[in-house]
Amino acid sequence: MSALPSTSGKAHAAAGDAYDAVVVGAGFAGMYMLHRLRGLGLSVRVYEQGDGVGGTWYWNRYPGARCDVESMQYSYSFSDELQQQWDWSERYAPQPEILKYANHVADRFDLRRDIQFSTRVERAVFDEGSNLWSVTPSQGDIVTARHVILATGCLSNARMPDIKGLKDFKGEVYHTGHWPHHAVDFTGKRVAVIGTGSSAIQSVPVIAETASRLTVFQRTANFSIPARNAALTSDERESFRSRYPEIRRFAREESRNGIFTEMPDRGALDDGDNERRAKYQSRWERGGLTFMSVYNNLAIDKTANDTAANFVREMIAGIVDDPATAKLLQPDSHPIGTKRICIDSDYYAAFNRPNVTLVDIKSTGIDEILPNAVRTGARDYEIDALVLATGFDAMTGSVAKIDIVGRDGKTLNEKWAEGPRTYLGLMSAGFPNLFVITGPGSPSVLSNMIVSIEQHVDWIADCVGYMRDRGLATIEAERDAEDKWVAHVNEVASGTLYPQANSWYMGANIPGKPRIFMPYIGGVGAYRQICNDVSARGYEGFQMTPLAKEKRAAAS
Ligand SMILES: Cc1cc2nc3c(=O)[nH]c(=O)nc-3n(C[C@H](O)[C@H](O)[C@H](O)COP(=O)(O)OP(=O)(O)OC[C@H]3O[C@@H](n4cnc5c(N)ncnc54)[C@H](O)[C@@H]3O)c2cc1C
Repeated sequence: MSALPSTSGKAHAAAGDAYDAVVVGAGFAGMYMLHRLRGLGLSVRVYEQGDGVGGTWYWNRYPGARCDVESMQYSYSFSDELQQQWDWSERYAPQPEILKYANHVADRFDLRRDIQFSTRVERAVFDEGSNLWSVTPSQGDIVTARHVILATGCLSNARMPDIKGLKDFKGEVYHTGHWPHHAVDFTGKRVAVIGTGSSAIQSVPVIAETASRLTVFQRTANFSIPARNAALTSDERESFRSRYPEIRRFAREESRNGIFTEMPDRGALDDGDNERRAKYQSRWERGGLTFMSVYNNLAIDKTANDTAANFVREMIAGIVDDPATAKLLQPDSHPIGTKRICIDSDYYAAFNRPNVTLVDIKSTGIDEILPNAVRTGARDYEIDALVLATGFDAMTGSVAKIDIVGRDGKTLNEKWAEGPRTYLGLMSAGFPNLFVITGPGSPSVLSNMIVSIEQHVDWIADCVGYMRDRGLATIEAERDAEDKWVAHVNEVASGTLYPQANSWYMGANIPGKPRIFMPYIGGVGAYRQICNDVSARGYEGFQMTPLAKEKRAAAS
């Protein structure tokens, strides 16, 4: 039974409405959170700034956008009927299909009636007298909630680069993470793509097919492995479906990254040159993210890592005709895998087309954008359209945009000024009943995100149910537990090669952002066990306070 009067199902929340929980964001995390809390009989209001569900897949509509974890695994597991009935068409579904899936889930589980679209959460303030959060949406009235759950996404705050003249550019400007809903036609146009991360790597080969000229501006070359995307046959789908119990169990409990694959039992240097090369070649042919799990020491041993990095550099040199372009495309600034590895369909081969040029801006940078051109130290590149594939203020960007005020009037932004601090990536001391899904300090972006989302949502829902059943008013991370967790996250990261890369895992793509390795690298299975142990021990490291007597009576 709901702890507070039910206000579910209204199109717009009204002044004074009180919810058991407010969820911010209606991507895969927010949708499943709503479903679970509703299953507990709680009243929930979801706010979503977009006008539809799907989060990442609602916003990232750029040409070539698709998932890089195979769809049979990059999908919800909480409903066996759903996973048995949904037909993925390709090994890596394209964005429109993933968005269709998100909409199907919203309809199937009747989620929309509790989601208020086109509404940003601007502010959330914790009231220490009532132990309730007061939430200010961009439209509609302030509401109160016992719990606030941030399902705001790790890659949802598109980063606009600070380039002189950008606002004066006269042609079309697009950000890959904020792509328009109408069709964009580059036929016969001169297009510039700025950035060479995952979104550029996916979009460049597709834009190259229609643009008259495509110029790609690269600061840092990234490692990319062929996706080997293809249509899924019904036999392939069936093979997954019949093995789903084991595939999902393995992904949740045993894997490091939430993906079902062979677990490597040897290091790269345990094999001789020929054998090692044959293994890399076979993973290259297979395609996809499992390239990095061929050996068990690629993330921790630089010499071992070099063997994989050299192999990929060699493959690039074999694909790209022009030696100077191939050299530029060969990453040399970080160990392979220490930035999220990209998965592509003919990215490197796109540079063999006569209409595609790669421009190195590592040393010169972009001086300015002119009304009709991109100017670098060496020359002006005249263009009609500009595509900013400049990524996101990752993991903390969307949280930081909300003015979150906890105990003693202290804001989360003040607390996280030197970098995010959480206990288990789920809560931050001083902010009772405020949960973050896949937040910093959890495996999050290092994993198949849907596996991590489901784990967090289940843990939070179980926790909220536990509190409701025991008449508890608040749960809050203890500072000591948080300090120890932050130290542990850092210690585990420092035992790997990851901190060597200037990656968005480190906040390095955002000027002025503290350099902290944000995700927890201990592995999805191990992390899940830690979270389960904490809750089994009565939420060890969290403080809980009881509801006042009269409220307890109302709640029962
Ligand atoms: C192009 C791209 C491809 C990806 N491919 C993969 C992949 O193959 N595998 C994988 O594991 N992960 C992938 N990811 C990561 C992806 O973000 C996650 O897999 C997953 O979709 C995240 O779901 P979410 O619900 O946590 O966040 P999101 O999908 O980002 O949803 C968050 C939602 O919160 C909303 N929001 C934020 N702030 C507010 C606010 N203040 N008020 C109201 N609403 C707000 C946003 O509008 C957004 O809709 C990819 C990311 C990108 C950008």
